[in-house]
Amino acid sequence: MKVTFCGAAGIVTGSCYLIEFGNKKILVDCGMFQGPKEITRKNYLPFTFDPKKISHVLLTHAHIDHSGLIPKLFRKGFRGKVFCTAPTKDLSRIMLEDSAYINEKDVQDENRRRRREGLALREPLFTMDDSRKSLRLFSSVNYGRRIKIVKGISARFRDAGHILGSSIIELFVEEKGRKTKLVFSGDLGQWDVPIVRDPTIIKEADYLFLESTYGDRSREDFEGKEKALYDAVKKTFKKGGKLMIPSFAVERTQELLYFIHRLIKKGKFPKERVFLDSPLAIKATDVFRKHGAFYDEETKRSFATPFTFARLENLVTGRDSMRLNNYPGPCIIIAGSGMCTGGRIRHHLKHHLWEPENTLLFIGYQAEGTLGRRILDGADYVHMMGVKVAVKAKVERIEGFSAHADSEELLRWANGFEAKPKKIFVVHGDMDASTALAKRLKSQGYKTHIPKLGETVKLN
Ligand SMILES: [Zn+2]
Ligand SMILES: [Zn+2]
Repeated sequence: MKVTFCGAAGIVTGSCYLIEFGNKKILVDCGMFQGPKEITRKNYLPFTFDPKKISHVLLTHAHIDHSGLIPKLFRKGFRGKVFCTAPTKDLSRIMLEDSAYINEKDVQDENRRRRREGLALREPLFTMDDSRKSLRLFSSVNYGRRIKIVKGISARFRDAGHILGSSIIELFVEEKGRKTKLVFSGDLGQWDVPIVRDPTIIKEADYLFLESTYGDRSREDFEGKEKALYDAVKKTFKKGGKLMIPSFAVERTQELLYFIHRLIKKGKFPKERVFLDSPLAIKATDVFRKHGAFYDEETKRSFATPFTFARLENLVTGRDSMRLNNYPGPCIIIAGSGMCTGGRIRHHLKHHLWEPENTLLFIGYQAEGTLGRRILDGADYVHMMGVKVAVKAKVERIEGFSAHADSEELLRWANGFEAKPKKIFVVHGDMDASTALAKRLKSQGYKTHIPKLGETVKLN
């Protein structure tokens, strides 16, 4: 049996493992490369395997860095099955359609320029049609049930506690009477956070493929986040200002709504409205509402409807969103994109970033080169949407709103195995993060390896 690391090796994004067993080939994840240009360029390279020969994709969760190239796989001839949980299937639908829309639009814009410059036109990575057709190949599976994939290989999905429906995948391989078990951590969540359950402890593995996004970091705790959020709300409302929160559509937005709902229930701010101004986040929140069975016990206990409350208003159309420009007085505005690189948050920044009574609150990582990062780094003004905007609003940040386990939790999870796996492949992290985690694992007696992109390893 061979495993090839087609993505998320030495980097965070593009998660994709090719598993070859006799003449059978399956993938675990088929994710998009995200981030700076030298990384996203890889999306346009041909697959290093023949998509027509892949019989199955086992999908850990709906994030684009795990699912994003499935429509491209379809475009290049894949007609097999995609197995994932029910929430992953529903979230993938909105994520992959959104991604196709953005991709088609970007290529259109680029081709307009290319035509002007007399250059060859580019083909989109995939189209809306590819996305929709690839989604028909998705089948949902339950947690904890062992399912046959192909002769000699079966799989079991376990809750990874990262985003709703996220999975750890156990792969059971039998070759000439010899059994080998592979465990793919997927992205692991944190313990004791709202909405999602704790990551499932797995007791046995011959080989473990372990994510390391936060392999060199620790996070703030739950109570800290709620208090920091409340402080930002209180200070802003006292000045009569608006609290603008750029947010990612899946999980982050719902976690935020959960905390806001809790504060409202505690009577912390009695009348101000909360606007969710992102069509993608609204759709994602509907998926969360639909799959209440997947919430953790505490969420089920404390709320009948964690993401529905009277003062929450969904702004679906562009016109609804524009009306908010003239909304008088304090309110909370949640809008995409999370790093202010696009989406409706930019309109709100244009209208409200120069007013000192407002607050811009970051709850997510701001990558180098993004508008969010420039503001967070203390720019006095920014150029955006063709205008110059002074940064007079208060700029704040809350750390710890992350769906990822930190280094302590990754170790805690790895230590759940009753016998040490023969080897741990440390993946899905920047080199610093992967190296730091591998070092800590090694000091506890684990055998580790940080694979290179494209590397193939033979197992038994
Ligand atoms: Zn993820
Ligand atoms: Zn990921």
